[in-house]
Amino acid sequence: MIRISDIIDKVIEHNPDADLDIIDRAYIYSARVHEGQMRLSGEPYLTHPLEVAGILADMKLDSVSIAAALLHDVIEDTHATPEEIKEMFGQEVLHIVSGVTKLSSLTFNSSQARQAESIRKMLLAMADDIRVILIKLADRLHNMRTLRYHPKEQKRRAIAQETHDIYAPIAARLGIYWIKKELEDSSFMHLQPEEYSRIHALVNKDKEERDKYIETVKDYIKRKMDENGLKCEVLGRYKYFYSIYKKMVIQKLAFEDVYDIIAFRIILDTIPQCYETLGLIHSLWKPVAKKFKDYIGVPKPNMYQSLHTTVIGPFGERIEIQIRTWEMDKVAKSGIAAHWSYKEGKRVDDKISKTFAWIQKLVENQENINNPDEFLESVRIDLFPDEVYVFTPRGEIKSIVRGATPVDLAYLIHSEVGNQCIGAKVNGHIVPLQYQLKTGDTVEIRTSKNHHPSKDWLKFVKTVKARSRIRLWIKTQEKERSYSLGREMCEKAFRKYKLNFNELVKSEEMEKVIEHWGFKKIDDLIVNVGFGKITPLQIIRKVVPKPESGEEHESLLDKLVGHVKKKKQGTGVIVQGVDDILLKFGKCCQPVPGDPITGYITQGYGVTVHRTSCVNALKMNPERQVDVEWDEDITETYPVKICINSYDRVGLLADVAATISKNGSNILSAHTETKENKTVDTFFTITVKTTKHLNSIISAIKKVKHVYQANRLH
Ligand code: MN
Repeated sequence: MIRISDIIDKVIEHNPDADLDIIDRAYIYSARVHEGQMRLSGEPYLTHPLEVAGILADMKLDSVSIAAALLHDVIEDTHATPEEIKEMFGQEVLHIVSGVTKLSSLTFNSSQARQAESIRKMLLAMADDIRVILIKLADRLHNMRTLRYHPKEQKRRAIAQETHDIYAPIAARLGIYWIKKELEDSSFMHLQPEEYSRIHALVNKDKEERDKYIETVKDYIKRKMDENGLKCEVLGRYKYFYSIYKKMVIQKLAFEDVYDIIAFRIILDTIPQCYETLGLIHSLWKPVAKKFKDYIGVPKPNMYQSLHTTVIGPFGERIEIQIRTWEMDKVAKSGIAAHWSYKEGKRVDDKISKTFAWIQKLVENQENINNPDEFLESVRIDLFPDEVYVFTPRGEIKSIVRGATPVDLAYLIHSEVGNQCIGAKVNGHIVPLQYQLKTGDTVEIRTSKNHHPSKDWLKFVKTVKARSRIRLWIKTQEKERSYSLGREMCEKAFRKYKLNFNELVKSEEMEKVIEHWGFKKIDDLIVNVGFGKITPLQIIRKVVPKPESGEEHESLLDKLVGHVKKKKQGTGVIVQGVDDILLKFGKCCQPVPGDPITGYITQGYGVTVHRTSCVNALKMNPERQVDVEWDEDITETYPVKICINSYDRVGLLADVAATISKNGSNILSAHTETKENKTVDTFFTITVKTTKHLNSIISAIKKVKHVYQANRLH
């Protein structure tokens, strides 16, 4: 069990000038208020804050953090009050302790919404003072070390799961790999005890042989380094169990085939020495293609740096080797904490706060996301990234989440670049927009001023930024579209009642109408007409004052118009959200219920409906496109052109005509074209109810004697 003197020794070792007084006082206070409390392990409660403080001292954190660690449970678990903490230890310590206390009430393994809320709070705490999270991680680490004392299995599993899902990834994101590994291994032990002991046994089997192997490889490396006058330390270590297990599961390997249970590390003084060492290793053993990673040239976002390579070793086996400087080793071990240490009485310096600006950005990005699923998805991407590194044509390095596409990269560069992205070249070759970027790709984004984002992009983009920008663009577009549709509907409806909408727009009556619906501007009213939320007739009723006598309002309107309103005729098509709009069918493609259709706003003529496959429709401006659908409640008949190719015999036309009317269709027009070889093409325009109806007519015609072919015309 760790004692306060051990902690003080650790602190003095790396910072002789540290404020030991505050640590001493925090210890005495904590011992007093936790007096008589016990841990589930049967030990005095005080062991817990001491262990947590010890972990922070190992991470070389400042005395304020260590004092706060000693006090981290006092507000929650004892009679201590925030006022007392502030008075005795100052605002900074109180601030950290309250931060930790707030987080301790979070439960992650609950409903999505609560989980989202909990993570949001974690992020806020992190952005506020990273030391809160460091204490929280140390706290969880010690709780995991003693989790076996928890009497309830279900609870143990829940805590282990939460550790695996939330705490281990946060440790990784902060670059504190040793905590990440320990948390993953201990949660693995509680979640899959059988798998854990199996791997434990496998690693320990032949351990002697393996230890010998480690020494052999180390000797080879050391000799090579000595020959070249490079001073270094070579380490061989077993990988942690969870990473071995993950390899076995993901790559479906047998334990014997997991080559990298052992990893080697070479630590040197300078960066040039690292690259020199890499060259020497590659001359000693053949490198495995594509396994080399230069995290020195391109550090990970959490500042991790190293050269990684895999080579074929002296026994034909694969060996994983990391090469780094002592400084990099320190960062790899304590991540963000390495940059925090020795900062007695000071906030983190500029360079570091810039590096960790992502925490702040993360919080800002999340603020506007209210949907818990969307929030969790975006946090998962931002917090637990698996990144690739690509180059711009000018050689700049961009890091982006794995699976990201050129569209994501375009939005990362600038929203405008994203909005105008028409294509991309990767390493000089044109790629589809769905292409998944790979590390090392040189990516050139091609843009065009007149190009716009597409709804389809949402199906493949990976980053939150791209997704939210595309959605925003679509929303703006829909608004503009609704405005022009709404304006047109109003103009048309007002004309019907002999009113001039454009003149009335500026009238006092209209101002009252706008106010009535709670809008600020006429534009908002028009947009809502376009969305189908308000009908033009509702506006007209408000603009034309109600008569004072008993005369019916409707009949006054009728008088104004001079004719009785005709019963609304169904067109059989619904324009989304709009019930009063002039509809026309494209003559070019003659849509019939059952055909996939789309609508286009035509200036002054309402909406024209085309088949989605129509050549003319494809040429239309996509900004004027509206979603339309068939109204199944309305039965209408629709004209459609068919062509019949047949032998030119007497009476054939009559037979075909009889077949058509027998099948419940009318012929609107017909003409024939005689061809060579005694064949004839007959063109009919007939009425049908649906495509199914049409198809049944066509197959009936095909059965008429001497008919060779019958088709719908496109
Ligand atoms: Mn605790």
